[in-house]
Amino acid sequence: MKAADFPLNALMEITSRPPAVLVRGEGSYLWDSEGRRYLDYVQGWAVNCLGHCPKEVVNVLAKQAATLINPSPAYYNDASARFAQALTASSCFDRVFFASSGAEANEGAIKLARKFGAKHRNGAYEIITFQNSFHGRTLATMSASGKVAFEPLFEPKVPGFRKAILNDMASVKALVSDKTVAVMLEPVQGEAGVLAATDEFMQALREFTRERGLLLIVDEVQTGFGRIGKLYGYQHSGIEPDIMTLGKGIGAGVPLAALLASEAASCFEHGDQGGTYCGNPLMTAVGSAVLDVVGKPVFLAEVNALGAYLSEKLLALSKDVGLGAVRGRGLLVALELGKDIGGEVSNRARDMGLLINSPRPATLRFMPALNLTRSEIDEGLAILRRALV
Ligand code: PMP
Repeated sequence: MKAADFPLNALMEITSRPPAVLVRGEGSYLWDSEGRRYLDYVQGWAVNCLGHCPKEVVNVLAKQAATLINPSPAYYNDASARFAQALTASSCFDRVFFASSGAEANEGAIKLARKFGAKHRNGAYEIITFQNSFHGRTLATMSASGKVAFEPLFEPKVPGFRKAILNDMASVKALVSDKTVAVMLEPVQGEAGVLAATDEFMQALREFTRERGLLLIVDEVQTGFGRIGKLYGYQHSGIEPDIMTLGKGIGAGVPLAALLASEAASCFEHGDQGGTYCGNPLMTAVGSAVLDVVGKPVFLAEVNALGAYLSEKLLALSKDVGLGAVRGRGLLVALELGKDIGGEVSNRARDMGLLINSPRPATLRFMPALNLTRSEIDEGLAILRRALV
């Protein structure tokens, strides 16, 4: 069937989409309705950590769907209790609240910090976030984000967010007042084009926030669940934050997210937080199955090896073709193009059978499945080389 034969006009226009309708996925590949195959380095926007339709997810979904889908968060269910326990055992956190999207988890983190401020910090409510950061598309998370394109949108913004400069402690200190309750950041700013907070900066932030009694919140919606080569990005710097949010990879493609907090920061009272899908067993059972795979040291070691392989090959390509720097961690990698041709290159690559993202006009971002193969890296880079010339 051709794209033009689908009833596409009934969908709200929220972005410009290519003229293809995707109908099937398997591992690193997608197929459209006309039978064209694409090697997918976007993977649902860094979501499908195990590729398209992985058997672990397909099997657990079928089994759980036939057992219990959603009894409501007003009751305990076994799948969410088990997954919460596994998440706390795998991290430095003690308590978990499940959500359905990264933005919802971050909205919860913002609320938790404000609650903490109301209870323990004289009503302090301001959160220091960072320029170029991305935390989601709800009103509060857009307000928290440092994305320049968000600035004129949906005024008035939710107040209480002040934007510091990544890797610049002085810029953080300058924004702290008695109204400040927390600092929130992505260990690697993904949407900004893969800009990493240095380990030293993470450590300095932890020391400073601890000294001042402020909460440290890490938004690991993009970096968590192995994407940057550790199960959680904060583990690279050896620190222990107070609050973490997860999304994307945690569900390997299904809508699942989580807000994790230390016991001391877990200060919600009854009625403060909830949602009818929060902690439903259909999604949390998937989360456990994904963690069983991604949490294994051998899996994470392979993510690092694949990331090194991809970066090395990209650097060679960049030198050959006369492009810029390669940066990133694990399998969240960016290539600087040196000029604003990202959109053009990703369109050409798509027409040649490679899906790739350009988060900024002069940047390409690579966020493939964490279990792709070296030959899928070689294949992608061969297409990219052709798309670049
Ligand atoms: N935080 C970060 C760091 C993200 O990269 C994203 C999504 N790109 C979000 C939050 C929002 O997640 P979602 O789209 O699931 O709401």
